[in-house]
Amino acid sequence: MRTDATTLSRPEIRPLDPALINKIAAGEVIERPSSVVKELVENSLDAGAKRVDVTLEVGGSQLIRVVDDGHGIAREHLPLAIAPHATSKIATADDLFNIHTLGFRGEALASIGSVSQLSVRSRPADQLEAFDITVDGGAVSEPVACGAPVGTTVEIRNLFFNVPARRKFLRTPQTECGHVTEQIARLALAHPQTAFTLTHNGRSLRNLPPTADRRERIADFYGSELGECLIPLDRHERGLRIEGLIAPPSHSKATTKWQYLFLNGRHITDRRLTYAIREAFRGLVEHDRFPVVFLFLTADPHDFDANVHPTKIEVRWKDAGLVQSQVLAVLRETLLSRNLTPRLRTPNAPPADIGNRPSDPAAQQRAREALANYLKRVDPTQPRLTFRAHPFAKDRLRPSIIETLPSTPEDAGDSHAANVGDAQGERGMLANGGAGLSRDAAQPTHDGVAPAALNEATSADVASGNSSNNDGGGSGALGPNTAGVSAATPNAEGQAVAPNAAAALSALAHAGGSDVMQLHNTYLVCQTEDGVLIIDQHALHERILYERFRERILRGPLESQGMLLPETFEASPAQREAATANADLLDRIGIEVTEYGPKLLAVQRFPTLLRNVSMKTFVSDLLDKLVDNAGQTSEETLIHAALDMMACKAAVKAGDPLSREEIYALLEQRHLTERSSNCPHGRPTTLELTTKDLERQFGRA
Ligand code: ADP
Ligand code: MG
Repeated sequence: MRTDATTLSRPEIRPLDPALINKIAAGEVIERPSSVVKELVENSLDAGAKRVDVTLEVGGSQLIRVVDDGHGIAREHLPLAIAPHATSKIATADDLFNIHTLGFRGEALASIGSVSQLSVRSRPADQLEAFDITVDGGAVSEPVACGAPVGTTVEIRNLFFNVPARRKFLRTPQTECGHVTEQIARLALAHPQTAFTLTHNGRSLRNLPPTADRRERIADFYGSELGECLIPLDRHERGLRIEGLIAPPSHSKATTKWQYLFLNGRHITDRRLTYAIREAFRGLVEHDRFPVVFLFLTADPHDFDANVHPTKIEVRWKDAGLVQSQVLAVLRETLLSRNLTPRLRTPNAPPADIGNRPSDPAAQQRAREALANYLKRVDPTQPRLTFRAHPFAKDRLRPSIIETLPSTPEDAGDSHAANVGDAQGERGMLANGGAGLSRDAAQPTHDGVAPAALNEATSADVASGNSSNNDGGGSGALGPNTAGVSAATPNAEGQAVAPNAAAALSALAHAGGSDVMQLHNTYLVCQTEDGVLIIDQHALHERILYERFRERILRGPLESQGMLLPETFEASPAQREAATANADLLDRIGIEVTEYGPKLLAVQRFPTLLRNVSMKTFVSDLLDKLVDNAGQTSEETLIHAALDMMACKAAVKAGDPLSREEIYALLEQRHLTERSSNCPHGRPTTLELTTKDLERQFGRA
């Protein structure tokens, strides 16, 4: 009985059908059209092609064709080329650690053939005619003679026709084409001496002539503006050559997408090297900006293992710490040897002496090794420098009690009601958000614009050396607007529920007392009834604007202004795709972008709310963000990304001096704004230190 039951429930083990094995392998490496393009172009490059033409139809889901002029495949080898685990690139286990080609696993063509209709047509130079072999969902034909020039043409039709789950996950042709373009970038940047073309639905997207100069290839891909500003670097040391082109920190981007790492001609990702890049630029770029870096490493294949990832996008270094420190050192030295003005902008700029003593190679070497040892102990995923309060104060600084306040829907409701009839939508919406910050009554279209007005006030103050701008003169819009705010929110002070800090603050703001200080032009410190609040001015303003923009956008597209002369900028193919794919979203926030020649985009309309923000940078960064979120269908998420960025760009910065009026307007908004305790990224806007805490620390209690 027992034996029977066991027999019944035990599943049978059987060998898998070869077609199924291939499908499983395809599952690993063939995710979408761009993965096919990667495998095929790698084969072309391995075959020594000097020219590669890639053609797509409908984002590659209907057709992917790769034509090369490489050494071709002999007739008798064609069946092997499409067979699994057949390769011309390695023969023994030792070869695995001495790889000089992009491919070596011998499974790409077999995998692709199992999930599509594949044809390989090839003619080696010593063969008079070409032969064509086809695979249809795994079924292989005999090679058939045909005419063709020397080289290889691989065609893939109906990708995933027999894997509906995968086919369903394909995005729009535009998006898939964007992924292919990015893939071509990775291949073409690493192989400038090969000519590339990319055509989609009959339209030429890329035409890259061969060149010996990497910079030229980058310029051909991303435009000459980027190409021209790149700083070259080249170092050969301890078996590792590091060549690179890096953009000055001022050209940094909103994503890490613009950081390209190549090892022996293969695009790779490497957390430790990404970390080294971040470290090298620490203090030179703001925390949410990422430098543009192209690094080309050449190493002995024995020094790393390329066979750790099915798509070979990661490698395992023999001595990862050393490589990391070498990359960090050469980047730092390159940056320090240049006069980069923003260097002194943040207090934690890298120490100027690390690895910057070209006159003393021995000391340089010692420093590098020390750095390597140090980095070995560092987990790259953890930020190395963390700012911590003194140990004794650590858990006494807690997020503000303000967050326990009820949000004030009545206030919001009132102000909306009061402003619904206002033709200047954003004026109304900013009655809360920044009216108190505005001083420009003479130009009513401007006065809702908190950040702009704030900046104006600030620069005016700085220029005139006059910190009291409430002079009752023509620019004194503060009075009426502030009154407007107070009237719209009569119960702001009367919030009996606002237990202590909020009420105290509000009273303070209205009293115009002298109890608020701006420290380091970054923090607002104020006394409350029972303690001290420390506010991050940027984080708070960011949150206030974010909430205002969000309320405003719920009521319809943001008001925008058409440009007489559109502002143009060089955009990556992915950015251009994003601009097309997200036209509706952009329209909602008052932005219109159009194509302007083969490489440029033009900003035709821009939200009036952001009039003091650099259009090009904002739109380019926003498109980068949208590229990052490609495939993200939730409009909510995209709107969040856009509003987030608008708020961040428009808000006062750390380091901006503020007038007292501006400070009070900010503080007043603080308790009228939802979630004011944290900025849109979740960082606290406010820390509180209570008198009790102080008493305890000083041993008074
Ligand atoms: P791998 O590249 O890992 O060897 P593939 O399945 O991609 O495996 O290709 C199998 C073999 O077919 C290659 O080893 C190569 O000899 C041959 N091959 C494929 N594509 C080309 C091409 N475009 N030109 C010349 N040979 C090719
Ligand atoms: Mg291959």
